[in-house]
Amino acid sequence: MPSTPLLPTLIERQTKRTSSTATLSVYNPSTFSTTDSSSPIAHLPLHTSEDIHSAMEKSYNAWKQWQHSTVYHRAELLNEIVRVMIDMQSQLADIIHLENGKPLCEAKAEVQYSIGFFKWYAALVQTLSGRITPSPQSSMHIETHFRSLGVCAAITPWNFPLAMLAKKSAAAIAAGCTLIAKPSELTPISGLALEHCILQAGAPEGLFTIIVSDTPNSVGELFCSTAFIRKLSFTGSTAVGKLLMSQSAENVQKVSMELGGNAPFVVLQSANLDTVTEGLIRSKFRNSGQACISANRIIVESSIADEFLHTILPVVQSLTPIRHATNPDDADIGPLISPDAVQKVQRLISDALSKGARILFGESELDTTQCWIDPIILSNITPNMDLWWEEIFGPVIACCVATDALHAVELANQSHHGLGAYIFTSDVDQIHQLPGQINSGMVGVNTGAISMPQTPFGGINQSGFGREGAVEGLMEYLSTQTIFRSYTAQRHHT
Ligand code: NAD
Repeated sequence: MPSTPLLPTLIERQTKRTSSTATLSVYNPSTFSTTDSSSPIAHLPLHTSEDIHSAMEKSYNAWKQWQHSTVYHRAELLNEIVRVMIDMQSQLADIIHLENGKPLCEAKAEVQYSIGFFKWYAALVQTLSGRITPSPQSSMHIETHFRSLGVCAAITPWNFPLAMLAKKSAAAIAAGCTLIAKPSELTPISGLALEHCILQAGAPEGLFTIIVSDTPNSVGELFCSTAFIRKLSFTGSTAVGKLLMSQSAENVQKVSMELGGNAPFVVLQSANLDTVTEGLIRSKFRNSGQACISANRIIVESSIADEFLHTILPVVQSLTPIRHATNPDDADIGPLISPDAVQKVQRLISDALSKGARILFGESELDTTQCWIDPIILSNITPNMDLWWEEIFGPVIACCVATDALHAVELANQSHHGLGAYIFTSDVDQIHQLPGQINSGMVGVNTGAISMPQTPFGGINQSGFGREGAVEGLMEYLSTQTIFRSYTAQRHHT
């Protein structure tokens, strides 16, 4: 039952290019429940294994041409994609809102963020140039060139169903690669919508292809075992990332791994609590806490712990879930992606409470038959609890107290992950010194916003490796070729 005009077009295209009669049902988490029969937003025809093979061949054929395109031509296409996406921005936002459940204002922000990557790479790719190295011999020229890597594959999660694909496809297209991508089976429609925009912009067939599948392991194996696929860009959980890394070893594929996080959110004595609250609401409640850079452990210096809780409590209480909002544009919080996600949060809360955590706000027993969780504030969390080490991925503020800044940094670094981190302080020495002491790929100091197309996004340790955005994101799709060109080898004619 399509509720956005683009949906029938996407379903029709998917039906024409797949040979299976089997379909994937996509649900809106806002209304999904395991106890009554929820109506799907769409039934999408699935790609069969033969369909995927044929799509990969098309991607390879498209790459044979696209690798030779000039950077100016690529920039033109990227700018045209921007234009199409701007034209379709409200439909794109509706699709994200429907299949992911996030509030409409967040879905609109995701569309703008996604468009930003196409704009950025359109500009950046026009500056892509190799270099000349001064040669030790006058007859020898030494040059370094950046070549397109080849056909690339992507596997993406459901939490930013458009943006994760936008980051990868914009960089791949700019680098002269083609991309074949499998989005999460929970949110495949945003991917189809992006593919539609890219085709509408005039891209050749096979430049960017979405695969709709509900058997992710077989698609992952196929991507990794196909010799002409030269890179796999994965965003998702650390567990699946490890599996894909081992599979990609077979063909020595280049991989980038944008994996889970466990962000510490450190609040020190001199912090401005209004700034802290703004940063916390942004980082903790965006997408209901289902972001890899969501604040996971809130570490507060003991001298301001009470004041901190008194400041955030009324703000958290005032947040409006979509199901209580009269206008979805005004809602602050959406559902989690699935009842399984609610169950995971329930497990983490029960474990924490059994080990001494206290509930300061919210419920301790969740309804795990549906996708909703209202905000929860927990105090007294400690490193022996599962939520200290695992992503909560829900609207749960889990707090602990540190004796001083040194202790706070020590606690912040007690994690196997290292993606995002936040520090709040107005002490200039701390603003300068502490970020370098935190083990993470990105640090926000007095801000909860740490991602934009112009900056490299990615982690260290079990949060993975590789970067998206910035010049680093483009380099992920290029290979480096060095040429030693000697002119003395020319034959002399008599
Ligand atoms: P997930 O790992 O379960 O799934 C991610 C993707 O992998 C989906 O498309 C899924 O179908 C696919 N997949 C699952 N099993 C697979 C297998 N055996 N072989 C191949 N593919 C497989 O993760 P999720 O629950 O969809 O997403 C949440 C995770 O993503 C969190 O850990 C979050 O932190 C992480 N994430 C990281 C970043 C980042 O940039 N570092 C960004 C967003 C999300």
